[in-house]
Amino acid sequence: MKTRKKEIVLAKPWTDEEEFKVLEEVVCSGWLSQGKKVSQFEQSLCSYLGAKHAVATTSGTTALHLSLVIAGIKDKDEVICPSFSFIASANVIEYVGARPVFVDIDDQTFNLDAEKIESKITSRTKGIVAVHQIGLACDMDKINRIARKYNLAVIEDAACALGATYKGYKIGQRSRYCCFSFHPRKIITTGEGGMIATDSKAVREKATSLRSHGASISAVEKHRSKGVLLESFSELGFNYRMTDLQAAVGLVQMKKLKQAIKSRQKLAKEYNRLLSDIDEVIIPFVPKNREHTFQSYLLRLKAKAGINADALVRFMAENNISCRRSIQPIHLEPYYLNKYGRVKLPVTEKMAASGIFLPIFPTLSLKEQEYIVDTLKKGISSVRKKSR
Ligand SMILES: *Cc1c(COP(=O)(O)O)cnc(C)c1O
Repeated sequence: MKTRKKEIVLAKPWTDEEEFKVLEEVVCSGWLSQGKKVSQFEQSLCSYLGAKHAVATTSGTTALHLSLVIAGIKDKDEVICPSFSFIASANVIEYVGARPVFVDIDDQTFNLDAEKIESKITSRTKGIVAVHQIGLACDMDKINRIARKYNLAVIEDAACALGATYKGYKIGQRSRYCCFSFHPRKIITTGEGGMIATDSKAVREKATSLRSHGASISAVEKHRSKGVLLESFSELGFNYRMTDLQAAVGLVQMKKLKQAIKSRQKLAKEYNRLLSDIDEVIIPFVPKNREHTFQSYLLRLKAKAGINADALVRFMAENNISCRRSIQPIHLEPYYLNKYGRVKLPVTEKMAASGIFLPIFPTLSLKEQEYIVDTLKKGISSVRKKSR
């Protein structure tokens, strides 16, 4: 087989000349840290989501951390979360001294299996980190019902789910704590960056203060008063401030957001079509009442096909296509394994062993997709021959 010279990467941010130009503007403006660009970016996200408030942070991780702090989750508490996620989803629970209690996922959606949550709730449980994994919304009605029954805070990890919908509304439109990420792997990017969308004025005020060391007034207010007003610090806060440089890029990215999601959905549809005649794979499932952002395209290898996912990823790499083995379960990482021992999560482990991420980003072409699927077919038969 002819090997492609140019590598097809797994993910690529969609940036152009315009992002570069706005950076120049901000650099020349004399105000580089958190200022009016950050406020505008927050406003822009609010109007897109139809949310009441939004607070920008330095990352998705710090947005989640602040949310847990504001929800009052602290040492000795327990928080339900999936293990089938990026490690940050559980690390933030550790940051506040609480214990992540891993719950298994649903084998169709890769999201928390709501039916398995209640049996893990104890008198110490204070919250649920609900991850909308790779851009597909969790079953929020069921999760919110359980949270109300046991008086738990719901912190939504929507790092990959900007623009995802659930029963006709956008994720983050009506949440107390909904956290987005603007890492280059996500739907839009600011290099690094995050945002909390909230329906609560109190949460907004608290987050605004805590991201800036718990200061009573912002740097902008201090600047405007020419140093007459001084801040006071009544709580332990952090420096989780986004810069105006990042927010300016974010504002340009917001203009591309709808198109970015549309492109991803179209690419996913093409993959579904191209893969339909491969017997060994299962294409992603999307429930009727949800819109997937396809931050990632996660393919499953049927167990009975007996194909080693690692060998297949290697075959793709040899042909200059960058894929990835599925999500690495958090509970199997040495830090968690050493601290909490072996947790039993059969579906999580099965999905981790049998999944493969295919390249997906807005500028991926149909020709490239055809080459990817063609190579995948060859890879499947090659890997299979070798394992016989
Ligand atoms: C990317 C990601 C995060 C962390 O976001 P950062 O902005 O990189 O800190 C958290 N949770 C999930 C599910 C993610 O995919």
